[in-house]
Amino acid sequence: MVLETRSPEETFRVGMRLGEEAYPGQVFALTGDLGVGKTVFTQGLAKGLGIDEPVSSPTFTIVQVYDEGRLPFYHFDVYRIGDVEEMDEVGFEDYVLGEGVSMIEWADLIREILPGKRTEVIIEKDLEKGFDYRKITINEIRA
Ligand code: ADP
Ligand code: MG
Repeated sequence: MVLETRSPEETFRVGMRLGEEAYPGQVFALTGDLGVGKTVFTQGLAKGLGIDEPVSSPTFTIVQVYDEGRLPFYHFDVYRIGDVEEMDEVGFEDYVLGEGVSMIEWADLIREILPGKRTEVIIEKDLEKGFDYRKITINEIRA
């Protein structure tokens, strides 16, 4: 599925809709360049899960856990990961196999340890279509 947005609010709403429909154990693997809107999308997803506290990128920790929503929410930002083994140390396996909803920003950096079943989200700019244009591609992977 491909969606197009032209403002941060629209991208937020796409995330929110997915958050409203998210099921226990769902893993979102989010990919896209710096500043493309991964965190905006994630904030929408959190809102859709019923999380009202502000969600920002986990800067000094790889994972941030939110328990106040309809389902637990595990927000990963693996941008600064040096080696996939660092993911073992934060208990990545337990999170993605758990009952909560996982969101992994920069998922392509840990491709080799992503679960086979995941919802892949790719956000891209296309400057020919304007500065605020984003193409959001969403695919269910069942490998
Ligand atoms: P990332 O987490 O991918 O590095 P952020 O979500 O932190 O990116 O930032 C995205 C930036 O792009 C924000 O400043 C936001 O206002 C801006 N922006 C402009 N148009 C859009 C859009 N259509 N969707 C999402 N963000 C947009
Ligand atoms: Mg971010």
